[in-house]
Amino acid sequence: MANWLDATVIENKHWHANLFSLKLKTPAFDFTAGQFVRLAMETPEGRKQRAYSLVNSPGEAEQEFLISTVADGILSPLLQQLQMGDKLQLSQPATGFFTLDEVPEGDNLWLLSSGTGIGPYISMLGTRNLWQRFEHIVIVHSVRTIADLVYRQYIEQKQAQYPGMLHYQPIVTREAHTGALSKRLPELISNGELQQACQQKIDTRSQVMICGNPAMITDTKVQLESMGLTKNLRRTPGNITVEQYWK
Ligand SMILES: Cc1cc2nc3c(=O)[nH]c(=O)nc-3n(C[C@H](O)[C@H](O)[C@H](O)COP(=O)(O)OP(=O)(O)OC[C@H]3O[C@@H](n4cnc5c(N)ncnc54)[C@H](O)[C@@H]3O)c2cc1C
Repeated sequence: MANWLDATVIENKHWHANLFSLKLKTPAFDFTAGQFVRLAMETPEGRKQRAYSLVNSPGEAEQEFLISTVADGILSPLLQQLQMGDKLQLSQPATGFFTLDEVPEGDNLWLLSSGTGIGPYISMLGTRNLWQRFEHIVIVHSVRTIADLVYRQYIEQKQAQYPGMLHYQPIVTREAHTGALSKRLPELISNGELQQACQQKIDTRSQVMICGNPAMITDTKVQLESMGLTKNLRRTPGNITVEQYWK
């Protein structure tokens, strides 16, 4: 049974019309980067709760979430409208296995995301564990428009803090953007464009985390499996660790 903490909105940053970062003040709690909690509010259809990944790193005083507004969704449009001082509830404990503790050793770590799926990686960037375990880390963020490329300044700060360890590769599918690739992730891996742009290999000594929309995850997994990588399970460790946001 989940317990619930009272949360107060301290900031609702709108990146664009349907993408926002919600910052909440709550009593302190522990979690591992990559985990999620549920946010709950009263809605016209009664009390509703949905899962959201924590974007902030453990030990920080404020909790942050990157959320896209789903047209016709029940909770996300209401979360989008929240303003400073508004109240909601947040579930305890934080849960989920999309964490670095679940990822075996590897020559490099690929953090593949689409849309809001970059959130858990932003949380991981603020943990020592990530930098101690992997020498080469690649964050790939696949989005439709340039305005979807969020948290870039924070990623650049981390690149400066850990020189040569972190490569950031945007993919923008519906607009041209300098430095960004434009094809779908599975195709970019299959033709080697992604690996070439990032100057890193993907092979059976790589670890790959994938987070975001279900079609991207399925197709990317199929591509990686065709290259010999296997799904990472506790009883049979492999290379591919996945978090799917919806079906
Ligand atoms: C472990 C986990 C972590 C998650 N973390 C995040 C997160 O950090 N940020 C975030 O924005 N969402 C996240 N989600 C999705 C989130 O829980 C909700 O499903 C989403 O906000 C829609 O809720 P809703 O009540 O507005 O829509 P609903 O009324 O519940 O759903 C409407 C429909 O939209 C589909 N859907 C859900 N999410 C999306 C989406 N992003 N784009 C298109 N269709 C969608 C659902 O499958 C459903 O069919 C996560 C889900 C899981 C399982």
